[in-house]
Amino acid sequence: MKTMLERKGELISNQSTTSLEDMTHAELAHGDALDIAERNTEQERSIAMRLRHTNEIKLIDEALGKMHSGMYGACESCEEIIETKRLKARPFVKYCLECQEEMEKSEGDSTSSVSMKFDNIE
Ligand SMILES: [Zn+2]
Repeated sequence: MKTMLERKGELISNQSTTSLEDMTHAELAHGDALDIAERNTEQERSIAMRLRHTNEIKLIDEALGKMHSGMYGACESCEEIIETKRLKARPFVKYCLECQEEMEKSEGDSTSSVSMKFDNIE
């Protein structure tokens, strides 16, 4: 399993590759600096949108796969059936409310400890 730090590095390197490419394209097409700046903001927005879409596609695929195997609606952590009310509000949710809260708590903790380590290195 990858550590949070490795994952963070991956995300950062992906991001900078994309914007560098986009910047080069914008520079080739347009000489005007203001124009480039405007284009970059647009591109950043579309990159963020693309990332959200990719994530959504992944969630949809997973939900469809679970429906196929008859696992849809079961919590991936404790295997309890997720409340219908919750599934209606968030159709691609993976965990029951209890597990989700538990996970968000521990995710928050590991993120802050990773960024602290990061600060120490720098
Ligand atoms: Zn659960």
